[in-house]
Amino acid sequence: MRKSFKYYIKANKGTVKKANQTLELCRILYNLCLEQRQFAWKNYHKSISGYDQVYELPSLKKFFPQFKEVPSQTLQEVVERVNRAFQNFFRRVKNGDKPGYPRFKSFGRYDSLTLKQAGWKLTDKDLQINKIGSFKLFLSRPIEGDIKSVTIRKTSSGRWYATFSCDNVPSKPLPKTGKTIGIDVGCESFLTTSEGEKVDNPRFFQRTNKLLIKRQKSVSRKKKGSKRRNKARILLSKTHEKVYNQRRDFHFKIARKLLQSYDIVCIEDMNHFKSYRSLNRSMRDVAWFGFFNILLFKAEEAGKEVIKVPTKNTSQACSECGKIVPRTLSDRVHSCPHCGLSIDRDINAACNILRLGQSLQGAGTLVPAMN
Ligand SMILES: [Zn+2]
Repeated sequence: MRKSFKYYIKANKGTVKKANQTLELCRILYNLCLEQRQFAWKNYHKSISGYDQVYELPSLKKFFPQFKEVPSQTLQEVVERVNRAFQNFFRRVKNGDKPGYPRFKSFGRYDSLTLKQAGWKLTDKDLQINKIGSFKLFLSRPIEGDIKSVTIRKTSSGRWYATFSCDNVPSKPLPKTGKTIGIDVGCESFLTTSEGEKVDNPRFFQRTNKLLIKRQKSVSRKKKGSKRRNKARILLSKTHEKVYNQRRDFHFKIARKLLQSYDIVCIEDMNHFKSYRSLNRSMRDVAWFGFFNILLFKAEEAGKEVIKVPTKNTSQACSECGKIVPRTLSDRVHSCPHCGLSIDRDINAACNILRLGQSLQGAGTLVPAMN
């Protein structure tokens, strides 16, 4: 299976300066490629491909020698990124969406560069990148499989990370338990299982959220363009990164726990949350998207299964008799006038998700939603 390994990296001032310059050159190239495509289309109705643009790189280097300072593979990868941006744009147009046209990247908005097989070297403690320099690598866990590409990225607080994208990573199957579970995610509890267990949002989320608000205010109080504002901005970015990391750790922990105990985990199909977004911001903030992605990925690694079920009526149907019991969002208890079942609303939803998942299991097709 494919897997990415991410590590914190650190370098001396000279290397960091060089890396920043390289990012800036990549950004300029990105914008150039975008502009060229726009120009050709506007004036000649001609579309330029990624191949065309890669083909032009040597002459670009001739006219602008500063691009010689960037590893060739990185330059090619910039062109590929522009190409991907256009492919995504056209795919979404074809699907009937209204995507934004690929945009120019403003200063500082280009934050990573990628190398494939060549242009880098891994030693015991260092990651050496051609034409940039050597980064100290904090190898918190071993890299597995065959490395296909290396990406170094700068966060907005100025920390650097290296991500190794690897192929043929051996999976680590977890022992089978023969058990299936349904989970419902909500805003009061982080998740509720069909067995009645609740996992709450950790307290530190609230603490760091308060800190976020405080630091956000501190940034907006300071004069635009001032050094003090920049300092405050870096502090804010650091807090954002901390929140992100804490949340991610929490998600990994919960996913591991679920997959250790169950072979099949049934979840709601994420598309459903699109309509919820406008409903309640804090719900979105709980970031289930991230959690479900981690769960799917960990399940693959562990040889377990995740079943996504259609979301229609999972919170309104009675998990005992299947009849619809309308209620408002504020109703915490599901009490069914038809069969008399009275349980926590989220547990009821999780039971519905479990049952839908079990009916989908092995069927390969979707069953009609309950009514
Ligand atoms: Zn009922």
